[in-house]
Amino acid sequence: MAEKICMQSLHWADQYAKKIIEKNPGKTYIIESGITPSGIVHIGNFREVMTQYLVYRALLDRGEKAEFIYMWDDYDRFRKVPKRIDKSYEQYIGMPVSMVPDPWNCHESYADHFKEKLMEELNILNIHPKYLSATELYKKCTFAKNINTALKNTEKIKQILNKFRKENLGEKWLPAIVVCSKCHKETENLEYVKDYTVKYRCSCGNEETIDFRKKGNVKLRWRTDWASRWAHYGVDFESSGKDHKSQGGSWDTSTLICEEVFQKPVPIGPMYEFINTKGNAGKMSSSLGNTTTVSDLLKIYTPEVIKSIYTAKLNKPIDIAFDNDIFNIYNYYDETEEAYFGKKTLENKKKEIQLKRLYELSQIDEINEQIPKKISFREAVNIVLYVAEEKRKEYAFSFAEGEGDKLIDSDKKIIENRLNCAKYWLDNYADENIKIALLEAPDKKLDVGDFKKSIKNICDNLTGCQSQKDIEQLIYNSAKDFNKQPRDMFRILYLALIGKERGPRLGGFIEMIGKEKIKRLLEGYIK
Ligand SMILES: [Zn+2]
Ligand SMILES: [Zn+2]
Repeated sequence: MAEKICMQSLHWADQYAKKIIEKNPGKTYIIESGITPSGIVHIGNFREVMTQYLVYRALLDRGEKAEFIYMWDDYDRFRKVPKRIDKSYEQYIGMPVSMVPDPWNCHESYADHFKEKLMEELNILNIHPKYLSATELYKKCTFAKNINTALKNTEKIKQILNKFRKENLGEKWLPAIVVCSKCHKETENLEYVKDYTVKYRCSCGNEETIDFRKKGNVKLRWRTDWASRWAHYGVDFESSGKDHKSQGGSWDTSTLICEEVFQKPVPIGPMYEFINTKGNAGKMSSSLGNTTTVSDLLKIYTPEVIKSIYTAKLNKPIDIAFDNDIFNIYNYYDETEEAYFGKKTLENKKKEIQLKRLYELSQIDEINEQIPKKISFREAVNIVLYVAEEKRKEYAFSFAEGEGDKLIDSDKKIIENRLNCAKYWLDNYADENIKIALLEAPDKKLDVGDFKKSIKNICDNLTGCQSQKDIEQLIYNSAKDFNKQPRDMFRILYLALIGKERGPRLGGFIEMIGKEKIKRLLEGYIK
């Protein structure tokens, strides 16, 4: 391609990349994301990771140097015992989540348990940030200088925060707290003695004076911590959700602290909207408190389609469908693919570039030169419904291959993924009228009347049909030749085969079920 698509694109990720570069040309850009690993990372939290990832990608695509860091806020305190966890865990409240044991005994800590899930999910999507642990960084005294700066500027920080508070912060308030070296719980009962030195007294009775250049027990409170991190790493971009973006919320105050206390520039940080799901109410595993995760999505959406869902827009809520709209989501993705490979052109060239860019940004692997040969989600659903399990894969492969070139491995992978997703969707979320089944025996109440000759003609010639098109042509001719309207012919066939007035495209349906089986059923009506 003459010019890279990203350079012509008006996609939001490209626009932010452009802004970041204009603000600070030639730098190695730092894109940050992060979360407290104190519970399941759900599809809403995931929007942040995806937003950051896409801007990072957009920078790389423009030939810039960039780093994507993911901060695990695992030095944050364990706040309360979730419902499904044993009450004995109350003893750990107030400790950093990285120091609380794993209730399921499969990881080093409570925090690690939740970290792993997200890292696995990101791996599947081929997203590989550099993971950082706040606990490790604090313990290594990485932020000692910023802690000292913050403590020295306590009054300034208080003023910034008080501007937005109903009640002013107390006399003894400090922007830092201590993790007690004896009981490992947080205490706010500390004093800033002199440069790099605090003295604290924990409720467990432990008293200590520490130099926080040597001992990593002192940590900054959230809003100051966020600002300190931007300053320390020189973060250029970090989007955040609505919860941080209210007037005087953590974004507003952290940016002021970053500029006025640490005297460093603040990142570009747009707000992203919520993610909603539709069609899965009451269908999610209740042990997870009805939280939808990326792993849940991966059961019904292939990885590249998930990426494309998150890529489409930034400042509008996204509805992820578990109901019939799943077809629209897959079809939209397929449209971006057709646009990318020039199989579909649009009047509106801007829109066409937008579709191409969406496709590019959604890919998991390198893009092949040829458009992947695949099946639509609708076709995958039909194959799962009508083709015996052991024959499904082969059937889908030969269906996708058609008359053309052999499938390559990546095509097969896409097809298999789609079949698995279709199967899971049908078993768990699809509503009943999707699941159209072939009648087991002729419907005795159905009188095919003067369509008998047409049906006989179909039975006589069906075996010779080589393709879906042949089958449809045969049905059409069988109507015309006996002076019937094709529309009525199709209607009578749907009634005879599935007991409904309407149904899937008959050519494909008959081919999938098997011509002989259809023939036997139809013969039952003309005996
Ligand atoms: Zn675990
Ligand atoms: Zn203590």
